[in-house]
Amino acid sequence: MDWLWKALGGKSGRNQKKSQAVVAKAQSAAQALAELDDAALADRARALTSQGELADPAEFLAVLGVATQRTLKIAPFDVQSQATLRLLEGDVVHMATGEGKTLVGAMAATGYALLGKRVHVITVNDYLARRDAEWNRPLVEFFGLTVASVTEGMIPEERRVAYASDVVYAPVNEIGFDVLRDQLITRREDAVQRGADVAIVDEADSVLVDEALVPLVLAGSVPGSAPTGQITHIVRGLTEDNDFTIDDDRRNVFLTEAGAHKVERALGIDSLYSDEHVGTTLVQVNLALHARALLVRDVHYIVREGKVLLIDESKGRVADLQRWPDGIQAAVEAKEGLDVTDGGRILDSITLQALLGRYPRVCGMTGTAVEATDQLRQFYDLRVSVIDRNRELQRFDQADRIYATNVDKERAIMSEIAGLHAKGQPVLIGTQDVAESEQLATALREQGIECSVLNAKNDAEEARIIAEAGDIGRVTVSTQMAGRGTDIRLGGADERDRDAVVELGGLAVIGTAKHRSSRLDNQLRGRAGRQGDPGLSMFFVSLEDDVVVSGGAGEDVTLTPRADGLIESSRAQRFVDHCQRVTEGQLLEIHAQTWKYNKLISDQRSIIDARRARLLDTDLAWQELAERAPERAAELMGLPEDIRVQAARDIMLFHLDNGWSEHLALLDDVRESIHLKAIARETPIDEFHRIAVTEFKTLAQTAVDEAVQTFKSVRIDEDGAHLSDAGLNRPSATWTYMVGDNPLANKGKSLISGIASIFK
Ligand code: ADP
Repeated sequence: MDWLWKALGGKSGRNQKKSQAVVAKAQSAAQALAELDDAALADRARALTSQGELADPAEFLAVLGVATQRTLKIAPFDVQSQATLRLLEGDVVHMATGEGKTLVGAMAATGYALLGKRVHVITVNDYLARRDAEWNRPLVEFFGLTVASVTEGMIPEERRVAYASDVVYAPVNEIGFDVLRDQLITRREDAVQRGADVAIVDEADSVLVDEALVPLVLAGSVPGSAPTGQITHIVRGLTEDNDFTIDDDRRNVFLTEAGAHKVERALGIDSLYSDEHVGTTLVQVNLALHARALLVRDVHYIVREGKVLLIDESKGRVADLQRWPDGIQAAVEAKEGLDVTDGGRILDSITLQALLGRYPRVCGMTGTAVEATDQLRQFYDLRVSVIDRNRELQRFDQADRIYATNVDKERAIMSEIAGLHAKGQPVLIGTQDVAESEQLATALREQGIECSVLNAKNDAEEARIIAEAGDIGRVTVSTQMAGRGTDIRLGGADERDRDAVVELGGLAVIGTAKHRSSRLDNQLRGRAGRQGDPGLSMFFVSLEDDVVVSGGAGEDVTLTPRADGLIESSRAQRFVDHCQRVTEGQLLEIHAQTWKYNKLISDQRSIIDARRARLLDTDLAWQELAERAPERAAELMGLPEDIRVQAARDIMLFHLDNGWSEHLALLDDVRESIHLKAIARETPIDEFHRIAVTEFKTLAQTAVDEAVQTFKSVRIDEDGAHLSDAGLNRPSATWTYMVGDNPLANKGKSLISGIASIFK
């Protein structure tokens, strides 16, 4: 890995030497500190951090190490102390799976808290937030600090208490939804969060890169518009190639001229592209077509109990609270002949990238940071520090096995699994999606091979299955492993049969196809060979795989397979590597393009945030309204000050929030129509910017004008402003969802007509 790092021109070498020297010094400091009693040790830590920075990093690491030993009963390895130091300096640390990142995160969180910072440790799911917070509690409390976790089922009061802690463990979506909900409060005391200073992100590349563009959405219920049954029916009758075409990477679908005519005839209209239909009927047709052609049942969603449930593609399981944007959700429901649910109005949304951008400091850890160096630098200005393994890697990574066709490949995978299983070696198979997992599991069972499948299970149950995946004779089938945060010990969770499994060669990891980025391949590989364990990894490839087809589009390569379909040539390997580099490049480009678009919205949001904060925390609302409507203000002077100030605040905030939500809806529409223009070869991003900037300017003014009108006309008495009398209801039934738009996941048959597909 070192050479790769140097080739990328990183500063890791220098940092590494420096922090290794600090760690060496810490070792000698530890002996004297071990003599101190608990209270004296905690005092020492406070003394070393009292100025808000580390007075003596070496001694501080030593104090942390001794305290960790006393409280968690674990002596940190030197590499862990080194990683802790790098986190405290604000880097993303590259540490392989099984090297003990949980402890590193715990020590760094405690360190930051001692420095007086409020820390959010961002975990992959609820289960890990709860587990890690409890696990870390003795260490944090040793220093008189507090720790808590925030998880899905918690009510606002519980959240408020939890967020008041020095260290908060929570999954990224909970934090994001709380940020969004806190944007709708009208009294400061209703906020559940307090600003945090530091985010320590577990599986950092997954959150910061792979899912960076996933928007978290807060919505309120209002009936929505969906493709009609007639349109759904017409679209069902269209045929691929004749009536519509799908682009190579299956992100976009387009009506052909013939297809458009067919729809026009069936609907009895002149032209879908006329002014009358372009913003309505055509949008509905496109939605229905998208649902019909790009969204595949059991790959992108499942139908259960009359409901469409989204599959979280990055994790390969049902994503409970997730919905697609409304048009798409309704279009899929119509396609499946289900009741179409009410649409929602998007009140607010934020991407993970913008969410993380709110923290003054972001750092994190992952087993695949080096491969994400470019993105981390480009999008977050973060550096990567590579931490050596505590024990040398004993895993053997085989060369890819490349086959001509999928059929040949699948046959070879089955026979490989059967061979390993016959010896008793545990096997973990990483598939591309849930449907493939199910098919593979069925095929294995038909051959008499018992296996566990990871999907749509709850986190705790899943953790238990993974923990046992290294036992003799186990076969475990799973979609992407990132975020399935439990380590796989050889011989079972309690390592009862460790020696036997070591003898067999450790855990064997099989990838059924290469991912769109080698980083995702490495996330899977990393499951084998933890802490110097023996292990084996191999990937199967067919020339029909999506990565090869899409990355190798337009290339003319002739490769001759053997009778069983295997292609043994170094040219084949070079070709496959090339295809993967092409798809990696495409993803980076999409990310960069989409970021331009998101950046603008996120800048606008911070302006709104700042305005909101002033309205909440000062009497600015009253001042502004009184200035513009002095007579009305004079009438209200008889009311107690706190009541009239709050009434003014309620009015101002109502119109501001309303304006922002309308602004977002408008930008959504603009995106749709820009999509149509993009086909007509105009540059969408410039057009988008122009509209977004102009509209934003009027938003602020309109919000104030409307507030003045309301201030003049609405009833205001001892009970405050009676906004609902005037039909000005704050949306109450709010729900939250994540838009499952993860271009990295799966075969890249990624979803929605959303952002990513438009700016390609
Ligand atoms: P990662 O998240 O890096 O894959 P984990 O944090 O899950 O790794 O830790 C892997 C395993 O190593 C856990 O069982 C943990 O208890 C153990 N471990 C971590 N650090 C140490 C240490 N310093 N000494 C002994 N065991 C450790």
